[in-house]
Amino acid sequence: MAQLSVKKVKKISTKKMDKKNVKAPAGTKKAAKNAKVQVEEELLLQTPRGMRDILPGDQPYWDQIRRVLTRISLEYGFGRIDTPVVEYANLFTRSVGTGTDIVDKEMYIFNTKGGDKVTLRPEFTAGIGRAYIQHGMNVLPKPVKLFSMGQIFRYDRPQEGRYREFWQGNFEAFGEQDPILDAQLIQLAHRVVTSLGIKNIQFQVNSIGCPKCRKEYQNLLVAYFESKKQKLCQNCKKRLETNPMRVLDCKEDKCVQVSTTAPQSVDHLCIECRVHFKSLLEYLDELDLPYMINPKLVRGLSYYTKTVFEIWSNDEEGKKHSFGGGGRYDYLIESLGGEHTPAIGFGLGMDRLVAEMKRVHAKSYIEPRPRVFLAQLGDLAKKKSLNVFAELQKNGILTAESFGRGSLKSQLRVADRLGVEITLIIGQKEALDKTVIVKDMVSGTQETVGYDRLIIAVKKILKNNVVVSHSEE
Ligand SMILES: [Zn+2]
Ligand SMILES: [Zn+2]
Repeated sequence: MAQLSVKKVKKISTKKMDKKNVKAPAGTKKAAKNAKVQVEEELLLQTPRGMRDILPGDQPYWDQIRRVLTRISLEYGFGRIDTPVVEYANLFTRSVGTGTDIVDKEMYIFNTKGGDKVTLRPEFTAGIGRAYIQHGMNVLPKPVKLFSMGQIFRYDRPQEGRYREFWQGNFEAFGEQDPILDAQLIQLAHRVVTSLGIKNIQFQVNSIGCPKCRKEYQNLLVAYFESKKQKLCQNCKKRLETNPMRVLDCKEDKCVQVSTTAPQSVDHLCIECRVHFKSLLEYLDELDLPYMINPKLVRGLSYYTKTVFEIWSNDEEGKKHSFGGGGRYDYLIESLGGEHTPAIGFGLGMDRLVAEMKRVHAKSYIEPRPRVFLAQLGDLAKKKSLNVFAELQKNGILTAESFGRGSLKSQLRVADRLGVEITLIIGQKEALDKTVIVKDMVSGTQETVGYDRLIIAVKKILKNNVVVSHSEE
């Protein structure tokens, strides 16, 4: 990386030098000065590739998602956890596993000045699992339910709607092996997505077995693919050695062809896994959730066992894409050095959800609007206004102001644009008298009140006006 940027700088500076040398012949003082300036790296006023800014105009959608995620996580008994964006790199090599795209190609790995090999987190589960062990959460009543929300980084090829920095809402439940929890998490995911106004969705579910039954299944699968090896893409030929189940979700046409008749994990489950999967499906039927069994769904990460699932848009018009997914990982905590802890989790891609909310014209969060404007005129009034403003906010009265503007006229213009119901004015006289002019913009009446009566007077007018309510869903 470092080498690359040096090269780029050199190229840029030669170009500049050529142009400038015409004006300043070599050897002159000016030329020497130019040469010094030219070594400076060019400033690119743009986000790094695959990353973007989320501007104020988009924030109401993000606010809505954050609010819905937070509310529903509480309803389902999840506690919020925030883990660092940076973790030791081998946490993911050990858990997500080599032979996966995430670990082999997509991690932002770097060495710190102290020589630690770290990475920007490429997913949530491993970090949350690490925190579970580090803080001895195994002594807490089970299941331990943890919710998180934040950025994920994957050095992937940027595509439409796919970024190198993206956001996820993430749910993990530790210490419970009953399939009712699998069903409950799918129900939770359904509730989040539909609460956002995205109604047309479908779950894909599958069981990829446990270490006991998967070994046998994988042998069968490898034998099958070996017999058709010449028909597979280059990547899949390699996957056959490292992560054979990944061949099943390769998107290359020829691999899809070969996969259609491949042995399916659901046909080769041990009794325990079969019973688990069967009861999960019964729960899903009971909940009347829209789902289909996708025998080719494997989700690629090495730590998954038994249940895996994904949430897909199911709109005829829209491009079909996944909003997220997850699965069981009954051996992850153990493999990281903790005690045996069956667990399950999933993540929802917030970027995708925002895009879909916009596409289906779902409601974004509406910020409560200020209904009161505070104007001031003169130096003393200006001084008094900060305290009056604070007093109004303290009493839950959302108030707008434009303290930086000197003229009353321009302040009132702002008030007018905001469409407030009350304008409060403090002039020189009022500042001396410790009073405020309260102007009811709806009825046009006004009165002068002392500080002690201000809150009551404002509340009375607001109460008489029609209350605009802002619902959440
Ligand atoms: Zn099994
Ligand atoms: Zn392939």
